[in-house]
Amino acid sequence: MTTGMEMPERPRSRRQTRAAILTHLLQSGGSFRPPLAKAVRLSEASLSRILFDLKAEGLIEEVRRPAPYVGGPTGLVALDGSVALAAVELTAQWLSVGVGSLSGELHYTERLPLPKAPTVETVGRVFGEVMTLLRDWTRRRHITLSQIGVSIPGLGRLTVSGNPIIPCDVGRLSGMIGEMFAGVPLEFTNSVVAHATFHRCRTQNYPFSDTHLFVLVSHGVAGAWMDDPVEADALQPIELGHMVFGPDGPRCRCGHHGCVEAYTSLPALAELLGVSGAELLQLGNEWVHTIPLSARVRQELRRRLFRLGLAIGNTLNVKPCGGVAISGWPSLLSEEDRKAVVDGIDACLLGGRKLAQVSLAFVPPSTGNDPQAALAFAAFCLASRGGMPATSTEAA
Ligand SMILES: [Zn+2]
Repeated sequence: MTTGMEMPERPRSRRQTRAAILTHLLQSGGSFRPPLAKAVRLSEASLSRILFDLKAEGLIEEVRRPAPYVGGPTGLVALDGSVALAAVELTAQWLSVGVGSLSGELHYTERLPLPKAPTVETVGRVFGEVMTLLRDWTRRRHITLSQIGVSIPGLGRLTVSGNPIIPCDVGRLSGMIGEMFAGVPLEFTNSVVAHATFHRCRTQNYPFSDTHLFVLVSHGVAGAWMDDPVEADALQPIELGHMVFGPDGPRCRCGHHGCVEAYTSLPALAELLGVSGAELLQLGNEWVHTIPLSARVRQELRRRLFRLGLAIGNTLNVKPCGGVAISGWPSLLSEEDRKAVVDGIDACLLGGRKLAQVSLAFVPPSTGNDPQAALAFAAFCLASRGGMPATSTEAA
């Protein structure tokens, strides 16, 4: 268990160094000392001193592994398996909760269904029930949580005006959880940020290790800038789903018409695919493998994917970056269908993908594995503040 809560405040540079080590271990799953020192740009002597502290605080452990070469190191530095994190993830159908480790092992999970037509009140009530289950479970086992991470679809700048995908009052939820788990660091995030974190930390051979754009096409459409994890604003959600393509297009949940989300989110596809919204949510991304497409529907789908590509390309025109990862139902499509997204990017990105040197990767959907994304986010929160106490009160 971490004793980080009792640690005195230290200069920021120290926090950042610890954050660099912990986030590197989080993303790599463990490392021998020499490559770790190189990755976080420390001498092995300085690294040793910091690892000594991190080990004493119960944040890391060293496990004996066969040396990778003759005379090589044998102690693999990894995140300590006994640190307990709580993950709370809101999805379209249920609220899931879990307790797990920094490396993504879940020791406890529970899912409570949401009502068919959720309201701020009923969703708040389900949150209350779930947090009570969590409190009882941790109390019975005398477990002290080091972090709580909460993932909410559609959470963003506009949430105060009541536009999340599932109605909920984040301010009220934050107050309630803060009271039930006094002293435990609590962070809320948009589900796109949680899924982006999940992929960066847990997806094998994830294509990007430096700054890139992550795009999630699910119940909503959103992006996240993935920056250096040591920076305070390492994970910035962006509203690329609300780029408007025609003010006379279909109505979007944001109140505007013709947003890219109103064409490409799961609920937006129901009519085109000839199923009810509820049926489609039940199928989730798997609709790609279950619903046959006529030539007309396929053509319209590609038109919508092209628009998604335009939204991504225009985002890169505003803020250039070298990589884009797309997750969600489009990543399950055939390469010919996915080409429409690529064409859309090429049609508007200044200089095209080649000249702009943008590499594009489709990564498997991670929706449906809740609360794994919220758990990865909680781990990231703890690692990115160097395993030290939060500097300020946690705001929603
Ligand atoms: Zn919109």
